[in-house]
Amino acid sequence: MASIIDGKAVAKEVQKQIKEEVEGLERRWGLVPGLGVVLVGDDPGSHIYVKNKEKACKEVGIKSYEHLLPATVSERELLTLVHSLNKDKNVHGILVQLPLPAHIRSEKILEAVSPHKDVDGFHPVSQGMLVLGGDGFRPCTPMGIMKLLESIACDPKGKNAVVVGRSNIVGKPVALMLLERHATVTICHSRTASLRDEVARADILVVAIGKAGLVRGDWVKPGAVVIDVGVNRLPSGKLAGDVEFETAKERAAWITPVPGGVGPMTICMLLYNTLKAAKDSLQRER
Ligand code: NDP
Repeated sequence: MASIIDGKAVAKEVQKQIKEEVEGLERRWGLVPGLGVVLVGDDPGSHIYVKNKEKACKEVGIKSYEHLLPATVSERELLTLVHSLNKDKNVHGILVQLPLPAHIRSEKILEAVSPHKDVDGFHPVSQGMLVLGGDGFRPCTPMGIMKLLESIACDPKGKNAVVVGRSNIVGKPVALMLLERHATVTICHSRTASLRDEVARADILVVAIGKAGLVRGDWVKPGAVVIDVGVNRLPSGKLAGDVEFETAKERAAWITPVPGGVGPMTICMLLYNTLKAAKDSLQRER
């Protein structure tokens, strides 16, 4: 029977450390880390995410600067706002909440964010630095997954890590981070010939698909560490992951629940990156 990886508890612990560092920055340098949050349109899901991010910022002493724009805003107007946030000395990190309306090219907006302020880690420079193993912002969800592994003293070195899903925000970056930590990594996707066989070889299994229970519990290797990133709303209204939890937990050594596993870590890592951006800005000025 698997032990549960309690993402809420790990996030709370990391947030405590971030709060202490934020207080130290203000005491020593008079610097308050700032996060510029840009939200376009009135998608209810996005509004909830943004509210949660602002609440989390407040809890650790990061100042958030909210910019709410109507869905009719033009790409040019949005670019002008991003450019002004790039220049704003109080803003160390910039978060543009996705998805953006269809008439705006998301990649244009994300590329306009200064790589120094790219706390989401979506800028091509950040993604390139991840590939090269250089210093840059890592995307928040994959970083949260690595923190969860660390919290259970799971060292990826020499292990078979299988990542299911190859998105730019989860699958690909987490595969690179596991590789960076010396795992032998396999990336699976919708054209993988036998997902079951790949999953069965995983000492560390990370699943980010977006389809409830697609990975069957009886595929899981006994003793594996299972990180379920998926968040799916069931017809009953409950949330469920991409892995069949009840059966998987009979075989795994460790498993994340949904909700309460990876989710809380994502926001936590956004705070971590905003703190890093503020510290980096001090380094550049000195
Ligand atoms: P995407 O839709 O961008 O990517 C899904 C991936 O799953 C694709 O690579 C796709 O393959 C693969 N896939 C789809 N069907 C299958 C299949 N039958 N077998 C194998 N692979 C398949 O999703 P995201 O990465 O953005 O998100 C994945 C899930 O994680 C979602 O539920 C999302 O809500 C959740 N999520 C949770 C976060 C959190 O903080 N908890 C943060 C981010 C995401 P292909 O490339 O071939 O199409």
